[in-house]
Amino acid sequence: MTENEKMMQLALSEAKKAYKKDEVPVGAVLVKDGVVIAKAFNRREASKDATAHAELLCIKKACKKLGDFRLNDVDMFVTLEPCVMCLGAILNARIRTLYIGADSNKPDAIKCEELIERAELNHKCKVVRNILRSECSALISQYFLDKRKG
Ligand SMILES: [Zn+2]
Repeated sequence: MTENEKMMQLALSEAKKAYKKDEVPVGAVLVKDGVVIAKAFNRREASKDATAHAELLCIKKACKKLGDFRLNDVDMFVTLEPCVMCLGAILNARIRTLYIGADSNKPDAIKCEELIERAELNHKCKVVRNILRSECSALISQYFLDKRKG
């Protein structure tokens, strides 16, 4: 397993915690200099908060920990392609590289790379896809399958 896959594995563990709590299973970790500085999973239902996505919660934790809104040289690993809200936060936090597990489950969604280009911010974030893609994608598919059955 590569270093990137190990980090995505941690994000997947976070996503599984969300699954157990009947939340859409998305997990994120932030890494600086090879060290995990924050982990989070989606808590939208539990916190009754539309903004409680894994990526935002993770960014908040990391900013608090580092005492800075600038997460310079910090990389994010997230199991599912981020939504527009989270991508905005990722750019504003100046995250260096965004590693994505599964592509957006909305087929017509505008791709992260395109949104980053269009955002016209000074900071650009590099995007790397398909880290443990099949595992990440299987988890989210299983969740929605369960939901339909239930
Ligand atoms: Zn989001």
